[in-house]
Amino acid sequence: MTEIQTPHILWVRGGRMIDPSQDYDMPGDILLEDGAVLASGNPADIAAQAQAKKSAGAQIEEIILSADLCVAPGLIDAHTHLREPGFEIKETIYSGAKAAARGGYTTVCSMPNTSPVTDSRSVVAQIIAAAHNAAIRVLPIGAITRGQEGLQLTEMYELAEAGGIAFSDDGKPVRSGAMMSMALNYALPLYLPIINHCEDPDIVGGGVMNSGPAAIRLGLKGWPSSGEVIMLQRDLELVRGIGARYHAAHLSAAGSVEAVRRAKDAGLRVTAEVTPHHLLLTDEWVEGHAGGILAEYAQHARMPQFNTNAKVNPPLRSAKDAEAVLQGLLDGVIDIVATDHAPHGVTDKYCSFDEAAFGISGIETSLSMLLTLARLRNIPLKTMIAAASTKPAEVFQLARHTRLPIGTLRAGAAADVVIFNPNERYTVRAEEFLSLGKNTPLDGAELAGKVKMTIYGGAIVWEDAHFNRRPQA
Ligand SMILES: [Zn+2]
Repeated sequence: MTEIQTPHILWVRGGRMIDPSQDYDMPGDILLEDGAVLASGNPADIAAQAQAKKSAGAQIEEIILSADLCVAPGLIDAHTHLREPGFEIKETIYSGAKAAARGGYTTVCSMPNTSPVTDSRSVVAQIIAAAHNAAIRVLPIGAITRGQEGLQLTEMYELAEAGGIAFSDDGKPVRSGAMMSMALNYALPLYLPIINHCEDPDIVGGGVMNSGPAAIRLGLKGWPSSGEVIMLQRDLELVRGIGARYHAAHLSAAGSVEAVRRAKDAGLRVTAEVTPHHLLLTDEWVEGHAGGILAEYAQHARMPQFNTNAKVNPPLRSAKDAEAVLQGLLDGVIDIVATDHAPHGVTDKYCSFDEAAFGISGIETSLSMLLTLARLRNIPLKTMIAAASTKPAEVFQLARHTRLPIGTLRAGAAADVVIFNPNERYTVRAEEFLSLGKNTPLDGAELAGKVKMTIYGGAIVWEDAHFNRRPQA
């Protein structure tokens, strides 16, 4: 959570600035000073301000972009598994933050399924301390129940006081409705959201992939979408009575979108997220076919039969579900895109499908997936940046937890910036990931859109090796 102080001014100029918080998508420059945005917008105005600063003796470093490069507020991931403490073989706060920076993220919210579970003041403090050496900002999420066992609430007030920004037992659902009801009641006076991983354990049982024709062909036990929708509907009914803030993690099913739509229409304080993989991939990826929206891009993906890297919880669903969650995102029923970055070691995935761990290492491909989706479906880039930066800051009211506002390029905001080329096509290579988790089903697939530079607190924390900062005129 360190805000790096820069002694000089950084002038990012010549690119296309996309800032949903100002409804801005046109040529725009940015001046960054002392870890904050000094000014942003019209290039002529910014040039005049830069000149004035120069005359006053300021040192200005220029990053000159070609006009097709986009400049946006640094991305914010509301759902990241950093694995530390406890599972440092899968990821550490340090490696996960580096991977996030490579993916264009400048803030991640870390999930509490660590070991020990992030269920005490001391574990929250430990994560915040480790994050001081990280490339980007890490905001911890505290557990709802002790040990994520669903039996006893954590000291939620203490977790909030220590720096927790929300509560979740993610990785495990909150099975008991009474426990969820109590958690919502305790969260209410803290003004912090409860995030649930909606999975009715009685319905899902030992399901390992989406129930459907692909599961039948593979002889694998299905995880029906009703398992998600039913727990979500339970939670929404509780929220209706209690009025607390509630956020549904990684929705995957058409029925979930309808449930959230009705809840929002009824005025409930409910928000929801979807992952890039649930938008773009389908259950056919599990059996080695590139189904869904990304099919034409993934002809060269390395896809063995029984691809355990496509095993994720909730599972990749049908093309119909993927279309429904996309429509939900475009309609604003689903508020944000979150990665559910879930790195694993090789042995967690190099095994039978039943034994393999759930999860995709996704933070380094997230923006590329969204940009590819935007291209294929003609979605404005501003919509994607809003879902991956501006809205996560709003949904989680992150300005309450950071020194300066984030998710925006307004003057006075944190100097967190991502620069990307929406047109550059490249092939995903898992071995190039900075994450310790190389578990991606996209290995070998081609994506359109690449992160070129990430700036956090005014400091360059990631730069693509092939980034030409000063293009020839
Ligand atoms: Zn989850």
